Amino acid sequence: MDKKLYGAVEGGGTKFICAVIDADLRILREARFPCQSPSETIANCLNFFQTAQAQLGPLSALGIASFGPLDPRPGSHDFGKILATPKPGWANTDLVSPFADALSIPVAFDTDVNGAVLAESLWGAGKGLKNLIYYTIGTGIGGGAIAENRLIHGLMHPEMGHAFLSHNYTQDPFPGVCPFHQDCFEGLASGPAIEARWGRKAYELPADHAAWELEAHYIALALVNTALMLAPERIILGGGVMAQQHLFPLVRAEFLKLLNGYLQIPAMLRDIDTYIVPSGLQGIAGLYGALALAIQAA
Ligand code: ADP
Ligand code: ZN
Repeated sequence: MDKKLYGAVEGGGTKFICAVIDADLRILREARFPCQSPSETIANCLNFFQTAQAQLGPLSALGIASFGPLDPRPGSHDFGKILATPKPGWANTDLVSPFADALSIPVAFDTDVNGAVLAESLWGAGKGLKNLIYYTIGTGIGGGAIAENRLIHGLMHPEMGHAFLSHNYTQDPFPGVCPFHQDCFEGLASGPAIEARWGRKAYELPADHAAWELEAHYIALALVNTALMLAPERIILGGGVMAQQHLFPLVRAEFLKLLNGYLQIPAMLRDIDTYIVPSGLQGIAGLYGALALAIQAA
């Protein structure tokens, strides 16, 4: 029996979730810490893992799935660092060395969405698929991608949430909320964009509100672009906004409408209900993403 224990850190803009998880995916210890300054946050997480190791035994590896942008490429000069983030104090923070030095175990590091797509491919809605996309649509929008069973890295990691979509100002005069691009995907369709456009919290808008058709339009535009560029076998949607289950049929219908008969691929056209799907790891895709990274590192 594999008795290995893994450390997992889901680093978010508002909170860090730490857990010790065994090879049977059981969470043995878990703690949440508010995302404060890097030094306070890292100290809280380190303390958690040191205490857990003392009580449960040694960890085989640690995985950190974090908000970005970040450098996930082992061996690169900036590996382990959060890059240029507007989040005060966090730009250039080395998230890996403090854990690697203090715990003396392999530490894997990637974006929350790259972790999530890996976890979905292992245990969730993309089980067994080698070409998979995971989008989170929440406070921000991010996408993770697996191509032929490998996370896409390239120069850094995909930044699909900032892709540019066509924006019809007559239909939707809202300028967008992205501080860098205004009306990129995140600028038009993130939770804060919905709230700024309609002046109400996204979860307060009724299912028949015009907000959702527009939201589905933007999500479908992004998914059509993603499908055309990367040819994934499935696209998984998570994040707070996708808790609105009625968005799924709207997104699927709009996706097919935008494709307009191009790509006669049964998996996409006939089986649209299994092509665009909710997360299979509702709410734990991030933490299990960190676990998946840890298992890879070990
Ligand atoms: P984060 O992106 O910060 O990690 P979430 O994925 O939960 O966290 O996204 C939070 C965003 O999603 C907020 O903008 C919030 O308004 C929106 N949101 C959360 N729950 C819902 C819901 N049930 N319906 C619609 N929007 C929601
Ligand atoms: Zn942007």
